[in-house]
Amino acid sequence: MIRINDNYLKLNASYLFSDIAQRVAAHQQRRPDPAVIRLGIGDVTRALPDACIVAFHQAVDEMAADGSFRGYGPEQGYDFLREAIAENDFKARGADIGADEIFVSDGAKCDTGNIQEIFDSGTRIAIPDPVYPVYLDTNVMAGRTGHYRNGRYDGIVYLDGNTDNGFIPDLPRQPVDLIYLCFPNNPTGAAITKDRLQIWVDYAATNKAIILYDAAYEAFIRDDTLPHSIYEIPGARQVAIEFRSFSKTAGFTGTRCAYTVVPKSLMAYTASGAAHSVHSLWRRRQCTKFNGVSYPVQRAAAAVYSDAGKGQVADLVADYMTNAALIRKAMQALGYPCIGGRNSPYIWVSTTADSWAFFDMLLEKTGVVCTPGAGFGTCGEGYIRISAFNSRENVTTALSRIRRTLKA
Ligand code: PLP
Repeated sequence: MIRINDNYLKLNASYLFSDIAQRVAAHQQRRPDPAVIRLGIGDVTRALPDACIVAFHQAVDEMAADGSFRGYGPEQGYDFLREAIAENDFKARGADIGADEIFVSDGAKCDTGNIQEIFDSGTRIAIPDPVYPVYLDTNVMAGRTGHYRNGRYDGIVYLDGNTDNGFIPDLPRQPVDLIYLCFPNNPTGAAITKDRLQIWVDYAATNKAIILYDAAYEAFIRDDTLPHSIYEIPGARQVAIEFRSFSKTAGFTGTRCAYTVVPKSLMAYTASGAAHSVHSLWRRRQCTKFNGVSYPVQRAAAAVYSDAGKGQVADLVADYMTNAALIRKAMQALGYPCIGGRNSPYIWVSTTADSWAFFDMLLEKTGVVCTPGAGFGTCGEGYIRISAFNSRENVTTALSRIRRTLKA
């Protein structure tokens, strides 16, 4: 008899975004007018930058001729992209990362989900609450947790976010081996300072732990004093893996390109204490299970680093950040304290109400879709997340509907 992986049965059955989709569909049937405006799911709405499109087209043309056609590429990505990444995203910021420490992939979702495979099943995991659910669910699937009870899995060390710590988690009280951090944060939009991040790097060094640092939203940082990469922090090369994505930076959510940095100086240990290179393990894993990102997509991603591409990406990001500022200002003026929206495309709004009740009220009365904070963890109760990924017109229409309703 074929047996299933029982750990899948532990997964919290309700998936946040399908719950939302069902409620929105039911609302649209009841009230087709005015049209629903979606400020819930974090998908971009604007086209790829022109420089990426030009490079994409040229690469497709290369694929059309025998002389320039490319078959399987290197699993870790083409050198032209890895070198552009190392130069622009790291060396230009004083972070010592080489092209050969970069693994190009088809998404930060896959990478943040897959990375746990190379660590022991008994690894003690620290996960923030609220959180991007992938970190948690992939550890549940791998059997590193107990059952789901009262909104939490047994066996996970949760790092609580709240107004007292500004949703920047404090160090855990019990020992942990693998720590997930995401800054600027999804869902809260909170951004970490160099000093606070240094505390985590030092903790990991002292405890021989590893930090998995998800920087998918680094392009949205406006404050020059904040770190874009964990490798701007002294000591991070010895303790951290970093995940980046072209999804939100350059509109690649449907095109798919991202990368993971695993420094060659990063070690993990056998039960007897022998050190092993994490870079070698991840390389082995990728060579076995992954065949690389398509050549035209990597050419399109490399164009992000051309002069034209840099300017177009900056405009794209600035446009979403203008939306974020409008949303933040409007919600604060209505008396709702906000976190995020300054260095991130997400605004985390304190409603003090039950977050699903607030979601339903907002949908019913304004036709605006947000995301209930409780969907990201128990510490998200009392909050909603509003996303800045939409057109200016939709954002201003949504905000005037919200103003009319919530002022009344
Ligand atoms: N990491 C975080 C924190 C995200 O919010 C997302 C997408 O919403 C991802 C990773 C996934 O990125 P990608 O599109 O590269 O898979």
